[in-house]
Amino acid sequence: MKRIGVLTSGGDAPGMNPCLRAVVRTALYREAEVIGVRQGFDGLIRGDMVPLRARDVGGILQRGGTFLQTARCPEFLEESGRRTALRILGKAGIEGLIVIGGDGSMRGAHALSVMGFPVVGVPASIDNDIWGTNMSLGVDTALNTIMDAVDKLRDTASSHQRAFLIETMGRHCGYLALMAGVICGAEVILIPEREVTLEEIAAAIKDAYARGKTHAIIVAAEGAPLKAPEVSNRLNGLRVGFDTRVTILGHVQRGGSPTAFDRMLATRMGVRSVECMLEGKVGTMVGLSGREIVPVPLPEVVGRTRQANIEYFEMARILAR
Ligand code: ADP
Repeated sequence: MKRIGVLTSGGDAPGMNPCLRAVVRTALYREAEVIGVRQGFDGLIRGDMVPLRARDVGGILQRGGTFLQTARCPEFLEESGRRTALRILGKAGIEGLIVIGGDGSMRGAHALSVMGFPVVGVPASIDNDIWGTNMSLGVDTALNTIMDAVDKLRDTASSHQRAFLIETMGRHCGYLALMAGVICGAEVILIPEREVTLEEIAAAIKDAYARGKTHAIIVAAEGAPLKAPEVSNRLNGLRVGFDTRVTILGHVQRGGSPTAFDRMLATRMGVRSVECMLEGKVGTMVGLSGREIVPVPLPEVVGRTRQANIEYFEMARILAR
């Protein structure tokens, strides 16, 4: 294989840039050219491409986001859109495509793969909901961002005897909120996977107050059944001891310099994705399994969703005493 394409797709995640660097320099070392596709599958359909040489990926190892940019592309859901993509790939002489993105992007990669095109996926999603890998790119950085924010909010919460409700990203998957709840010592965790009533939340906060805590922390995923402003309003109406304030972290969780863990994972996955491509292990996604980066068949990846470790829910409750 002499020419490989690479793109970043879907939601951006810290680690995409160091991954692109690893892809480009590994391919060049193995005497293959790399063509960068701008703005994901959308740029692919429009033929928005740029050759990438070693110097083009200099100075990006420490940068969040993706210098190739990313996008959502409804046309790619249709076979006609993917046929256009195949035509463009053929015209550009690209023989294989590396797709760095979330679970939707892995479905897109799989759809292209079943049409006969060699594809290797790299999981990048702060939600950590992609099947076939213990960790996706960006998860560790996002968790560190949340941890930093909660630590800061805790300082002000204890000075004012307040409860803080911090909303994290995670529309369908409570991974970030659950992990943040454990590592930040939250009194209450609200996630889509677990029903918690307002009465239970109020009782936990009241109890924390009665036990002499100076503050309380509630971490809630955006997809939790009870919404943050509603919980806060109701708690304030119920007089639970602490005055409750809401902080919605929002898109700050997607940005920032990738952590040491994410840079290493991005680098290893980038290298492995090129090796898989050149060794013909295509129709796969590279995943972290134990200490190894291994190719996982895309049909397995897209058929399932990685669930948050729900046993941590009870652990966090016990440790918040
Ligand atoms: P993420 O990759 O972060 O989960 P999306 O779910 O938005 O983000 O997916 C990114 C893109 O992947 C979509 O805009 C679409 O172009 C493509 N995609 C998603 N699902 C499919 C599918 N079932 N078939 C083909 N392409 C898909």
